[in-house]
Amino acid sequence: MHELSGTPSAITRPFMGVISTKTSAWPKGKPLVFLAGSPDNLRRLPFRPWGRKNLAACIVPAASKFIPPPQIPCILDVPQDHCAGLRDGDVVLIAPDGRIVVVFKAGSPYNSILATNRCNSLCVMCPQPPGRDPDDLYENNLQLISLLDPKTTEHLGITGGEPTLLGEDLITLVQTFKRKLPNTLLTLLTNGRRLKDLEFARALVRAGSPNLLIETPLFADNDTEHDAVMGAKGSFYETLQGLHNLALLGQPVGLRTILHAMTIKRLTQYAAFVYQNLPFVFQVAFMGMETRGFASKNLAQLWVDPHDYQDQMAHAVRYLARRLVPVSIYNHQLCLLPRELWPFARKSITDWKQSYPPACDTCSQREACGGVFGTGERHSAFLHPLC
Ligand code: SF4
Repeated sequence: MHELSGTPSAITRPFMGVISTKTSAWPKGKPLVFLAGSPDNLRRLPFRPWGRKNLAACIVPAASKFIPPPQIPCILDVPQDHCAGLRDGDVVLIAPDGRIVVVFKAGSPYNSILATNRCNSLCVMCPQPPGRDPDDLYENNLQLISLLDPKTTEHLGITGGEPTLLGEDLITLVQTFKRKLPNTLLTLLTNGRRLKDLEFARALVRAGSPNLLIETPLFADNDTEHDAVMGAKGSFYETLQGLHNLALLGQPVGLRTILHAMTIKRLTQYAAFVYQNLPFVFQVAFMGMETRGFASKNLAQLWVDPHDYQDQMAHAVRYLARRLVPVSIYNHQLCLLPRELWPFARKSITDWKQSYPPACDTCSQREACGGVFGTGERHSAFLHPLC
């Protein structure tokens, strides 16, 4: 999540609000966080036709002449360039220490809710290792959903950790989502292990249908390798049971696999296994690794330069595509992919993690390419500008 900070004033507890740069078009009934500086010469807020009661806080960029109303919570002296990324409709969490965490970026296709940091697995390449949850995480997520605009929010994800560890709370979260945002697509990322419980899977599908997509990692065509990658014995068969339960319930489900030294060797067998045993999936995604967290810690064991596995990936993609299984390639740079794979490549790296190294400066495909993980420790040695 994108985070900025400044000097706090009159903030006694964390709270959420919707960014507005305008002095009109107030979002009804929602706590508003006024971002000063637009228009630049505004010194004070006109409280008509607004109503002061809707104003939750002000963000005041450094060197701004704006004078906030007395006793309104403020974050002062926020660096101007940090504020440049904020726009109307963004949802921010404001903390008493002066941090402003952007929990929703209006107009971005990459927004997601972190359901929990906890997990029932320990994947060797997890970029965000499991941890404890803040006390108010669940309530904040419910509030976030209530602050979104149902007319403009096209898509939202739910990620973790492992979201199904919330149990009934996940069902409530998904129900709330459907009630408040009936036209928004929801993608749930889950390892699917708890969905081996048919009744839990049924409750989840009922709560989210018809706007719910589920995406699940499957790392190998066999239990030994999948369980080793997931760090959880028995997870291969639990996930398969979960996938088949979802198919039984008519729930659209996609597969994801992350490419590294432990998964790349049997990629063709993986494709064949999926085609033969999971023909109901709506997509198979081959994903590049984000080299942080456990992936960084285990890099010596996991690293293969993406340039060096293009033959295996092309073979697996061809195998599935020729059998009409939809395939996507995530997190891979166009300059590393053979041209025949370009139609499968997606700009999948979350916007605030996207980075373009110096090699990209003169590249003709920069607009079409998703770049590299700015959060990653290591990138391919073969990045090169395309002409
Ligand atoms: S040089 Fe950069 S922008 Fe061009 S294809 Fe490679 S990673 Fe993408």
